[in-house]
Amino acid sequence: MQNKNITIDSYLKELKEGKHKFENAFELLAHMLFNNSNFIKPILVNGRNTYDFLQFRMGKKHIIGLFEVINKFVAFIKDAAENGESKEMAFVLVGEPGNGKTFFVDYLSSMYRKYIAIPENNKYTFRINLPADMEGYGKIREIESETFEDPVILMMNLYEDIEQNKEQLSKTGFIDTEVEKLFKNYRPLGADTEFILRDLKNYYEGDIEKVKECFDIVKVPISETQGTITGKYPAKDKLTSSGVDLVGEESIQRLLHITNSNNPYRFDLRRGALARVGGGGIHFADEIFKNKTDLLKIYLGVVQNRVIEIDAFKWPIDTVIIATSNNADVQNYRANDEEKPILDRCKFCYVAHNTNYKLQEELTRYALGEGDKTTFMGEKLHIDPNLSYTLSVIVTLSRLPRSDDKLTPVEMMKLSAGEVAGEKSVKTLAELVDQLEHESDTTKRFGQKGLGQRDLARMINTQRSYAETNEGKCMFSLNVFKAAEEVILDYVQDNTERAKYFDDLKIAKDLYRKRIRTEMFNAFMDEPEAIKKDVMMYVNMIVGMGRSDLGPDKIITYRDPQTKKMQPIKIDERFVNAVESELEMKTQEQKESFRGQIRKIYAQRLQTDKNYDFMDNVDLVKAVTDTRLNSDIASAGGLVGALANRTNEDNEKLYNRIVTTMKNKLGYCTTCAQKTIEFFCTQDHQS
Ligand SMILES: [Zn+2]
Repeated sequence: MQNKNITIDSYLKELKEGKHKFENAFELLAHMLFNNSNFIKPILVNGRNTYDFLQFRMGKKHIIGLFEVINKFVAFIKDAAENGESKEMAFVLVGEPGNGKTFFVDYLSSMYRKYIAIPENNKYTFRINLPADMEGYGKIREIESETFEDPVILMMNLYEDIEQNKEQLSKTGFIDTEVEKLFKNYRPLGADTEFILRDLKNYYEGDIEKVKECFDIVKVPISETQGTITGKYPAKDKLTSSGVDLVGEESIQRLLHITNSNNPYRFDLRRGALARVGGGGIHFADEIFKNKTDLLKIYLGVVQNRVIEIDAFKWPIDTVIIATSNNADVQNYRANDEEKPILDRCKFCYVAHNTNYKLQEELTRYALGEGDKTTFMGEKLHIDPNLSYTLSVIVTLSRLPRSDDKLTPVEMMKLSAGEVAGEKSVKTLAELVDQLEHESDTTKRFGQKGLGQRDLARMINTQRSYAETNEGKCMFSLNVFKAAEEVILDYVQDNTERAKYFDDLKIAKDLYRKRIRTEMFNAFMDEPEAIKKDVMMYVNMIVGMGRSDLGPDKIITYRDPQTKKMQPIKIDERFVNAVESELEMKTQEQKESFRGQIRKIYAQRLQTDKNYDFMDNVDLVKAVTDTRLNSDIASAGGLVGALANRTNEDNEKLYNRIVTTMKNKLGYCTTCAQKTIEFFCTQDHQS
C-alpha cells in the first residue's frame, strides 16, 4: 500500500506545491475540455458556424458528428464550472434510439477516467483508523469516506468554527486568497464522517493533532466496472425496484458492530451508484424517465442539492449528472404537472441523427465492424466497395425532412455533407434547419427522425443471413435495398414514416445507379480516376471558354490546380455540347447559365480546397459518363449492349477485361464485379 503513509499535513503540503488539485467535478471537466485551444476548431455545419472539439475525435472508435450536442455540453460544463445555474442541473440527452447518445456519454466517461488517471489529477479521499480501544464500533477499525470526500473537505470541517478551519489551512502554508479560493468549494462532511469525527474528538478530549493522526489519505480508485469516478445506472421501473442501488441502505453487518443506533455509518452508501461517484465523478442515468417516481424523487434531490439523503441523514456529493431519454418518455413526463420540479432541473439537449452522409460512412464502418468477416461455411466474406456508400445514403436520406418547395432530398443530403447542390446554397439549408428548430414537437426538428445506427446494424445483419450472400461470399450492394426494406417493414410501426422511408429507398437506389455508371466507366477505361479526369476536362474547357483571351485556335493554357503547371488545352465544343445535351439543356440561354454556375463554383471552391474535383456534382458526373459511354463504344447499344450480349468473341474479351479491372483496381471480388455488371445491363438500371 503505497499510500499508507500520506498524512493530512503532507497531503496539504503537496497540494500547496501544486502536486494535487482541489477542484469540483465541473471544474475538472472544464479544464479537461478547454485546456488546449488547439483542440477547439471553428467549423461550418449545415450552414451554421459552430465549433468542433477535437478531443472527442481521438482514438480508433471516436465520436462522429454530434457537433451540436458537444457544443451544448461543453457550454453546460463551462457555465457550471463558472458557478452558473447549470451547477444545479442535469444534462439530459433526448432523442431516438441509436443516434449516439449513450456512446457520447460512454466516450466522455472514458475520456474523464483517463484525465483523472494523470498523477496531478488523481482524486484522493481519506480513511479513518479508529483507536483500538475506542468503543461503539465493535470490530470495525477502518472506515473509508463513503462518498470519497476530499481531504480538503475534511480540513474545512475539522473544527466547528469555520474561521478556525481557515486558520488551520493558513498554518499549513496557504495564504489568505488561496484559502478563500479553496473555500469556494466548501461543503459539509457527510453524516457519518462528521459523526465519527465527533467521536474521535471526544475520545482524544479535543486534541485535534491526535485526531488528525487517525486519518490516512488514499487514492480514489478509478474503475469503470465498479462504477467509481464514472458510473452508469440503468433505469429501474419494476414495482420491486427501490432506491438501494442508487443511494445504498442500512447494512445488517455494520449493525452487528455499531452500538449507537444514531450512528449514520450504519448505512452502507457504497451499495448505491451515487456514493461511488460522489468524489468528483460523473453519474450517467440511462433512460432516466423510465425510472419509478420515487427514484426520480431521489434524483431531484441529488441534482438540485447534490446530496444523498437517507432517513434525514445527508451526504453532500460532488457529481456531474448526465442522463438520456427518448422523446416519448419526456413528453409523458411533461404531461404530468407533478413532475415539473425535476423537469426544471434538466438541461435538455435534443440529439439529432447524423445527417452528413460522408461522416455516416465512418459510422457505417463502425457498424460493419473491423477485421475479416466469414460466411456460414467459414470462408472469407467480401464487402462490395459500394456497400458503405449505399448503406450510408439509405440511412442519411431517411433522416432528412421533406421540403419539396425549398430543397429536394438529394440537395439537402449534399448540402448537409458540405457539397455543392446545383444552384442551391447552403444558406437555404441553414434557413430550413432554423425554421424546423422552432417546431414545438421536437421530433419534427432537423434530423430527429430516421433510421438509426441500430437499424443500420440490422440491415447488415439481415443481409448476412441471405443465402446469396453466403453462396457468393460477398455482401453485394444491391442486396442492401432488400435488407433495408425488411428492416423498415419489421421495425417501423408508423405508416407515414414507413412510406417516407420506402420513398427514400427509391432515391437511394437512383443514386446507387448513378454511382454504378461511373464505376463501369472507370472499369471500362481501365483507370480508377478516368471519370474524374473527364469531369475536370469539361470544367476546364468551360472555364477556358469564358476567358477573354481565347484565340481562334481554341487552345487555351490553364493552370492545373494540382500540379500548378501551365498546360495547353484545346476546347472540344462537340464534347461540351454533348455533355450539356445529356443534361437536357436545349437553349443557348440554359447552357450559358449552367456554364456560369460551373465557373462560379470553380472560382469559389478552388480557393479553399485546391483538390476539389466536382465529383460531388452527381448530375454533371452522370452526364459526362453518359457522353463517354455513348461516344466511345461504337457498337449499337454501347457498353451495355456489349456486356449484355457476350456471344461474340470481342464482347467476351471486353467483359473479361472489365471484370479483371474491377477486381484488380477497383476493389471488387468476382461476385460483386459480375453482379454489378449484370445490374448495369438490366432494365432496372436503364429506367
Ligand atoms: Zn464482392
